[in-house]
Amino acid sequence: MKKVVIIGGGIAGLTAGIFAQKNGFDSLILEKHHTLGGECTGWDRQGYHIDGCIHWLVGTKEGTPIRDLWETVGALDGVEIYEPESFMAVEYEDVTVHFYRDLERLKDSWLEISPEDKDIIEEFCNDIKKLHTFSVPVGKPFDLMNLFEKIKYMFSMKDVGPIMNKYSKISVQDFAKKFKHPALRTAISSFLPEGDYSAVSVIFPLGTFTGGQSSIPLGGSKALAMRMGESYLSLGGKVETSSEVVGVDIEGKSVRKIKCENGKSYEADYFIAATDANVLYEQLLEGEYPDRKFKKRYDNPKDYPLASNIYIGIGYEGEMDNIPRTLRFPVESLDIKQNKKPIKHLQMTHYGYEPNFAPEGHTVITFAINQFEPELDWWEELVKDTEAYNKEKKRIGMSIINALKIRFPDMQGKLKLLDVASPQTYERYCNAYRGAFMGFWPTLQGKEMQHNGNIKGLNNIFLSGQWLQPPGGLPTALVTGKDSIMRLCKRERKKFLSA
Ligand SMILES: Cc1cc2nc3c(=O)[nH]c(=O)nc-3n(C[C@H](O)[C@H](O)[C@H](O)COP(=O)(O)OP(=O)(O)OC[C@H]3O[C@@H](n4cnc5c(N)ncnc54)[C@H](O)[C@@H]3O)c2cc1C
Repeated sequence: MKKVVIIGGGIAGLTAGIFAQKNGFDSLILEKHHTLGGECTGWDRQGYHIDGCIHWLVGTKEGTPIRDLWETVGALDGVEIYEPESFMAVEYEDVTVHFYRDLERLKDSWLEISPEDKDIIEEFCNDIKKLHTFSVPVGKPFDLMNLFEKIKYMFSMKDVGPIMNKYSKISVQDFAKKFKHPALRTAISSFLPEGDYSAVSVIFPLGTFTGGQSSIPLGGSKALAMRMGESYLSLGGKVETSSEVVGVDIEGKSVRKIKCENGKSYEADYFIAATDANVLYEQLLEGEYPDRKFKKRYDNPKDYPLASNIYIGIGYEGEMDNIPRTLRFPVESLDIKQNKKPIKHLQMTHYGYEPNFAPEGHTVITFAINQFEPELDWWEELVKDTEAYNKEKKRIGMSIINALKIRFPDMQGKLKLLDVASPQTYERYCNAYRGAFMGFWPTLQGKEMQHNGNIKGLNNIFLSGQWLQPPGGLPTALVTGKDSIMRLCKRERKKFLSA
């Protein structure tokens, strides 16, 4: 039986492990952290559970191939799906703009706010609707398809392709300017800060959401990853946590052995690095096997930006049933000093629908503040001074609590700061380069990338995970993990077993 060692126990590594076991390989997952899941995780603080990942999971709609794949790896077995009525609500003065799941309702509510925007509202809603035919491709990766399969795939994208193309050519901010009403402009433009970020980041999530394809599995991110971990173990897979891989021994064109920080080393026929791409290229292969596609992107952060987060968890002694799950509200003067541009809106998500995330009668709330290139440098410097770093995180957390109290005066005296994660947190716990929680973000100049995971000059180590298809996300981690084993099966002349 051929042996596969998988570096990284995130969603991609777990998926690769599950399909390795199903396809007759003897696999082992080595994970740096003491728990599985990677960025798909959550953590407990002061009696509350902070969900650190899933805001939307593409693949919750029954009967779709991506849902079937989530089921195959045990992620959604017997899990109830929560379907909030709106993607988010954005407040502007006395108007609230709702991004409803029901597209007709969204359209009617926007027309009510701004009849003079009728043409652009209708165009926008029609474009969103065209994305309802989109189905995440989960069959074969492009490089394994024959000509007929490639043509079939292209044909399946005939409605979606032109819409993605259209929105990839306009920035979020310029698209927002097409609306006359300031509330609608604000709602669209609050998706991303000023810059060249393409409006694909607006239309695509709304397409999957209003098409019923993305929702929230109850129990949250960590529970989902744990179910996949159990599924892997039940198939005979092995896991070693607290095992950070720090080096590789190469002979000719093959990796013979990988070495962990704890002194252990492992030999195998194949190695799959289901990690951040930078871990493989720069840390493990020490820059000796550079990849043209990644180098081009790392060298040009303007067109290929990386995003991280400040992620704040707050416990509220009260219930929030009448407040949309995700709400953006304006803030006057939020003092987050490393942000070059002032923060005008805060995005709040509450977990009132999760009975086990907070003590009875309480609710856990999270805030995510995106951090880009200049801010990431700032955090990288700050973390060198532990005291100043911890102080700053706490200060940011308290200023969010203050903003929350101004917006919801009734919450006064009932809020407590649970936790603040910074870009450095993702770097520390997941080896995420620059703290990036997804791949390069779509911009006007940035080109799409599809990578097959092969490393030029080496024949038995491969990259897997969300970095193969930026901007990544959980479905990409899932699909690429499976694809890595499909490619191994092809090498071994085995028929790939998908169930
Ligand atoms: C706050 C937040 C919100 C998000 N929201 C969503 C969402 O709503 N929907 C969505 O689809 N996606 C979301 N994402 C993104 C999603 O979490 C990621 O796309 C996905 O988890 C990536 O999976 P992965 O397996 O490719 O990589 P990772 O999760 O990064 O897994 C890599 C694993 O490798 C381990 N590792 C790294 N280096 C080594 C080493 N040297 N040795 C051993 N192990 C190593 C890491 O510890 C980690 O466990 C969110 C992420 C964050 C942080």
